[in-house]
Amino acid sequence: MKVKGRVDLSEEKAVTAIALRQIRKTYGSLEVIHDVDIDIASGEFLVLVGPSGCGKSTLLRMIAGLEEISGGTLDIGGKIVNALPPSDRDIAMVFQDYALYPHMSVRENMAFGLKMRGTETATIDGRVSQAADILKIEPFLERRPAQLSGGQRQRVAMGRAIVREPSAFLFDEPLSNLDAALRVEMRLEIAKLHNRMKATTVYVTHDQVEAMTLADRIVVLNAGKIEQIGPPLDLYHRPASLFVARFIGSPT
Ligand code: ADP
Ligand code: MG
Repeated sequence: MKVKGRVDLSEEKAVTAIALRQIRKTYGSLEVIHDVDIDIASGEFLVLVGPSGCGKSTLLRMIAGLEEISGGTLDIGGKIVNALPPSDRDIAMVFQDYALYPHMSVRENMAFGLKMRGTETATIDGRVSQAADILKIEPFLERRPAQLSGGQRQRVAMGRAIVREPSAFLFDEPLSNLDAALRVEMRLEIAKLHNRMKATTVYVTHDQVEAMTLADRIVVLNAGKIEQIGPPLDLYHRPASLFVARFIGSPT
């Protein structure tokens, strides 16, 4: 398996883009995220894995600002953003179900967020064209989401995130609704996109191959706690527990 090692995470060089400090989440009396600490380096591709219900989406949604943080501090770009709404966080999220507006064309879906922010029309048009070119979705710009395949919808969802030119992207199992062949194609597409844009990325998946091939570092979550965090090969060859081995460890 080819595993990359692109971002230099050595102490002197890494600039922290997103810092989670003692992050907690409770729903009523139920605590689902327990004091999570992660320093995400600028330009890093960080992959979150773990069993269903371990808190991956909750963690991502707190970073995005879609879920209130119950405790701890979240720092994005050197600023504590706990109280900031999603639109003020300089990040864009791509969802598993794409979350496109059904009544808008692809072009309108991609332009909508920028329009709401009051971005100039010429700037919006330029960014939409550029993103459409990168993602090869120009032929579908005037179509509605219902007239697109799953793979095409996923590209539109990514395009909508790209046009915002955020400093970080958040992905929540973006490929899990696609068939196996398309998943491979889109995974390569995401890797290419990351190499081109070098934006900090937090990517949730339960697919071992996605985690191993895309990640600079992998975080293994278990019941709302970090079980292990490290480069793919470290976790693969030196899993800290049976739990980690089960997820990404070498079968030997
Ligand atoms: P994952 O994405 O890893 O599958 P989630 O982050 O969706 O896990 O969920 C983590 C835990 O939080 C689960 O036990 C889930 O049942 C619980 N949970 C998620 N959202 C809510 C909610 N709105 N109210 C109560 N519990 C929730
Ligand atoms: Mg989830």
